[in-house]
Amino acid sequence: MADCIFCKIAKKQISSDIVYEDKKILAFLDNRPASLGHTLVVPKTHAETLDKLDEDSLKSLILSVQKVSKAISKFSQGYNVIQNNKEVAGQIVHHIHFHVVPRNDGDGIRWNRPNPVFSEKEIKNVIEKIKSNLNL
Ligand code: AMP
Ligand code: ZN
Repeated sequence: MADCIFCKIAKKQISSDIVYEDKKILAFLDNRPASLGHTLVVPKTHAETLDKLDEDSLKSLILSVQKVSKAISKFSQGYNVIQNNKEVAGQIVHHIHFHVVPRNDGDGIRWNRPNPVFSEKEIKNVIEKIKSNLNL
């Protein structure tokens, strides 16, 4: 994708603070980090969202997310792994990526809010909806 910023970063046309790289994957620091060490892990091949990524790239991607998480867990108390799909879900860069965000006591990061409550009927319906769409 010619105008995709993460494609450009993956091709080294735009510089980034690279922490890990292999044939299929690049991991680099977020330039507006939620915490020190906030890392983005991206496939070198372009896909907008998780559902669009080919299986081979996805396998490499999730294994690399774990690799980065292992490294981050050595120097932080915990970490969040976050992956946003589509603008409605907070996706700003339309090239799939995982965030690995180091967490420590008192870091003040908050993404929780009170959980909505759903009726039994709504829950039953959504279970059916997911199940009936699983094999598409
Ligand atoms: P998302 O909301 O999941 O799409 O997150 C996109 C992330 O990419 C944001 O946290 C941005 O700070 C980060 N980002 C955007 N451009 C760059 C860049 N050139 N280098 C590093 N991180 C970037
Ligand atoms: Zn891209």
